[in-house]
Amino acid sequence: MSLPAGALQSVRGMNDILLDDMPYWSRLESTARRVLGSYGYGEVRVPLVEHTELFRRSIGEFTDIVEKEMYTFEDRGGDSLTLRPEITAVLVRAAISNGMLHNQKHRIWTTGPAFRYERPQKGRYRQFHQIDCEAFGYEGPDVDAEIILVSARLLRELGVGRVSLRLNSLGLPASRALYRERLVAYLESRFDELDEDSRRRLAGNPMRVLDSKNPALAALIEAAPRITDHLDAESSAHFAAVRAHLDAAGLEYRVDPRLVRGLDYYTRTVFEWTTDALGAQDAVCGGGRYDGLVSQLGGEPTPAIGWGMGIERVVELMRASGAPAIGDAPAVYLVLAGERAEAQGLALAEGWRDSLGEVGLAVNLGGGSFKSQLKRADRSGARYAVIMGDEEAGRGVVAIKSLRGDGTQQECLQAEVPARLRTLLGEGRVTVDG
Ligand code: ATP
Ligand code: MG
Repeated sequence: MSLPAGALQSVRGMNDILLDDMPYWSRLESTARRVLGSYGYGEVRVPLVEHTELFRRSIGEFTDIVEKEMYTFEDRGGDSLTLRPEITAVLVRAAISNGMLHNQKHRIWTTGPAFRYERPQKGRYRQFHQIDCEAFGYEGPDVDAEIILVSARLLRELGVGRVSLRLNSLGLPASRALYRERLVAYLESRFDELDEDSRRRLAGNPMRVLDSKNPALAALIEAAPRITDHLDAESSAHFAAVRAHLDAAGLEYRVDPRLVRGLDYYTRTVFEWTTDALGAQDAVCGGGRYDGLVSQLGGEPTPAIGWGMGIERVVELMRASGAPAIGDAPAVYLVLAGERAEAQGLALAEGWRDSLGEVGLAVNLGGGSFKSQLKRADRSGARYAVIMGDEEAGRGVVAIKSLRGDGTQQECLQAEVPARLRTLLGEGRVTVDG
């Protein structure tokens, strides 16, 4: 496809989500709303832009995100603002600034875009979207298990296959600090073998070396000390209880001591859903517990846990799995053949819509031959065409033609169209008791 000279394009890595994709997005969002709502998670909406400080203080100075991926700018008043690169920190900020954490527990979720200046490629964009789910005020381990189970149910109900769950515990800050020392000693002993990225991480954030995607480092990472061998007793017990809940619920997972996740704020439980169906960008949902973050951001100490799911990747996976999508396609398409029919069409449709309820009705606009209108009716996704020519208009009738089944056609008084359509579409059936 070639664009006319001078035509504007979207910003690199920021996509338009168009007609072919939207039915998958709609189904993902409506399924999330239903599943999360049914577990008692309530939906909230929060800003896309925050003070830069929020992300520096939460995600961590030595993470890829803060070091090189944030869209940070000064507004006209001279404040440093940042397009949110992730949503957890924003929900924590919202919970603190709205006084939601004082002796309270909350289970909330939200959806919307996040922005990271990454190298765009399939499954990795500069504006991407997440479903983000968090629980505040619960120490767990029941909530750790529940929040993982809700992510599992969401993926299952979407009908995506080829996903698997990895689970780890990072322990408490004190045991983590001890582990960190052991890890640094190990990595320094093999410094010559590290790549440039890992050397940089070794200085600022050594645990992130374990998260390296460089295959040349796989063996070195495999032989590194394991965090699960260095957990404090409390975290060990917590982790065992989380696993016991998941085992009892029959959810499969693999404990992976290399799973550290890319943000600094995690403590104890971390988890990630990955898939083998999407190539290199294999993480579809990740999360964990972050008990220290609320107080780190100035709130009252509050235990918390959550996850973020990448919508673009899950939509790809829905396609790859042949999962259903939902569209808002009209159920009915009105074909208007002739001047008289055209003159009456819009008003007739308005009248029918008053009693059609949720049944969608699209009207053919701009004329066209009978044949081309029927083609458009078919492409619209409608199940029935309501056909009116000048002759029918004169008699106060229409023809209703099935577009999906046998193609049968029946005549109907104009006044009876809504009732007839509802019967045909299997709605508006009345059951009589006794
Ligand atoms: P990755 O390892 O692929 O970089 P991540 O660990 O940085 O992912 P998180 O910060 O945990 O990702 O974000 C949660 C989810 O958001 C990821 O599991 C992924 O599905 C999605 N995601 C993250 N970054 C992007 C991106 N640049 N483009 C599209 N989706 C993304
Ligand atoms: Mg990343």
